[in-house]
Amino acid sequence: MTKSEKIKIVCRIRPFLNHEVEEEAVRVTDKNTITLHNKRDPTRPFTYKSFSSCYSPDTTQETIFTQDVLPVIERVFDGYSSSVFTYGVTGSGKSYSMQGVKHDPGIIPRVMGFLFETKQATQVSSIDITMSYMEILKETVFDMLTPKHKDIALDIREDSKRNVFVANLKEERIETYNDFSKLFNVANKNRSTASTKLNSRSSRSHAILTLNVKTVTPLEYKDGQQQEEVVMGRINLIDLAGSEDNRKSGNGKARMTESAAINKSLFVLAQVVQALNSGATRIPFRDSKLTRILQSTLEGTALGMMIINIAPGHNFINDTANTLNFASRSK
Ligand code: ADP
Repeated sequence: MTKSEKIKIVCRIRPFLNHEVEEEAVRVTDKNTITLHNKRDPTRPFTYKSFSSCYSPDTTQETIFTQDVLPVIERVFDGYSSSVFTYGVTGSGKSYSMQGVKHDPGIIPRVMGFLFETKQATQVSSIDITMSYMEILKETVFDMLTPKHKDIALDIREDSKRNVFVANLKEERIETYNDFSKLFNVANKNRSTASTKLNSRSSRSHAILTLNVKTVTPLEYKDGQQQEEVVMGRINLIDLAGSEDNRKSGNGKARMTESAAINKSLFVLAQVVQALNSGATRIPFRDSKLTRILQSTLEGTALGMMIINIAPGHNFINDTANTLNFASRSK
């Protein structure tokens, strides 16, 4: 790692897909640097430096999990909060990184595997895990664990200690990996997707999976009563909406409004991450629903990382330049 930022920025270039016949536009030039080559001006490559890690297309899910994700999330049992984001345009590999596919699982199944393995191996303490899963679409919050969730917009509120929470969001206890999978698969079928000219399935909403982990350790008896230590930790796994510039995708008016909401919340997110990483005192959490909801899991001792997903080819070059500019601003 080149610097000790609070939210690590990690870049990942996905492999070319079978149908992509185009030239390579981006390359990892060292562990912390990505270079972008524009074939129209090959003499002037752009270099984007000082990322926490940069991963070339042949990097495995296992490597990314072990090197970058695990160090961020494993302190949940000590009461730390952490957030892992995937950022990028539709088709850049966000879902592959976050969820993965059956033969090549991504961050979410690996985090769940780690939590349940630790739960099983822990003898003295007991560990309780709950999950909630929400979607933010056009600055409106919906519960993905509630059937027909799209009909009910949830409110964001503050409790007496000024902690922000989403009112009436379902929180389900999960005992096994199987419990998790069932809930997660049903919920994902609900996630909003619609056709755009750019892609047949485009994710237009931010999806936030929250895991609350409670570790209870029995202490000595005192005054005839069993004392115990309770430690609460939290992990947020966030698959962000596609960051594409929708002015180019031939979208109608409804999509343009939606796109403006997405772009605004991603812009605020970059400002928040940048402010956290530079130690600024004014952090604009309140400027978007996404950052407002995540505030308590981002400030203080919380840890975080953002995977910047990048497609390798020339057809994506404008999006890739925008993505890398976003990533550079967030450091
Ligand atoms: P997004 O969620 O950003 O829209 P996807 O995760 O759906 O993008 O990825 C786009 C395509 O690229 C999918 O077909 C996916 O299987 C493939 N893909 C993405 N990343 C990888 C990877 N690291 N290895 C192999 N295939 C990948």
